[in-house]
Amino acid sequence: MAAPVVELEAPDLRKYRDGGTGVDYVHTWDSGEPGRHVMITALTHGNEICGAIALDYLFDLNLRPKTGKLSFGFVNIQAFERFDPTDPYASRFVDEDFNRMWTEEHLDSDGMTAELVRGRELRSVFDDVDDLLDIHSMTSFSPPLMLINILDKHIAMSRRAGYPADVAAGPVYAPGKRIIEYTPFDDTETDKTAMLVECGEHWAKATGEVARDTALHFLVATGIMTADEAAEHFHRKDKPTQRVMEVTHGVTAISNDFRFVESFVGCEQFEKAGTPVAEDGDATVVTPYANCVLIMPNHRSKGGQRAARFARILD
Ligand SMILES: [Zn+2]
Repeated sequence: MAAPVVELEAPDLRKYRDGGTGVDYVHTWDSGEPGRHVMITALTHGNEICGAIALDYLFDLNLRPKTGKLSFGFVNIQAFERFDPTDPYASRFVDEDFNRMWTEEHLDSDGMTAELVRGRELRSVFDDVDDLLDIHSMTSFSPPLMLINILDKHIAMSRRAGYPADVAAGPVYAPGKRIIEYTPFDDTETDKTAMLVECGEHWAKATGEVARDTALHFLVATGIMTADEAAEHFHRKDKPTQRVMEVTHGVTAISNDFRFVESFVGCEQFEKAGTPVAEDGDATVVTPYANCVLIMPNHRSKGGQRAARFARILD
């Protein structure tokens, strides 16, 4: 693999250690008035620093909720502390992927990985949160993408935020559960919402800009900021036309010779059903229906690995 280009610079987060909440690197501002608890998290993957840069910027705005609570949190800080721009892939996690462990069974297990210890601290915070935005980035160049569970409340929140342009609702067909799939969020009996934004390629300058813009749109959607207050802080001033999609299929590579027919970056839309998108050994992978959208193609997938997802546009 070619050495990655690291355009973003990791901020110094040590000043955020004690937020007075009892959980390191979590800051909460309580209006004292009833209302929703809104939270933005970064560094669920320790090397995805775009979210940390966005939060570092937002801290300086001294935002305070008029109702409910606002929290900012840096999640896998132990992994982040190992971030090295000359070897940036190495610090995704310490012992296990923080975003694959959000089942009660795993959280309540005897496991003592660095991530489980931190996860148990943060679980008490997440149990109190009503609306969560978790900021991530991706391995390869791809347009930004919001990932949500396929529940009406999440679709409504993603539409309210209105950014980024593409929203994929449904499973990612990966093992384990992500924070946004933690039971209280992925439950029709609660009105809690959670969204995960993939801002673009790790460490690209534009990814940092998308992270900040997505956070600002979320803060407007949740009533923490007004659109007027947020306006001067956006990199991108206009709101794109949104495309909300349901992820319908996971594509798993069968052979070790899986290759896409073009260098797709993700979010391509194919007009006709049956359009070839990849060759997998002797087999051809085709779109299952008309106007199908390719989600997160993995150009390095080997047999048994997730190679892509297909999604259908809602409405
Ligand atoms: Zn991530």
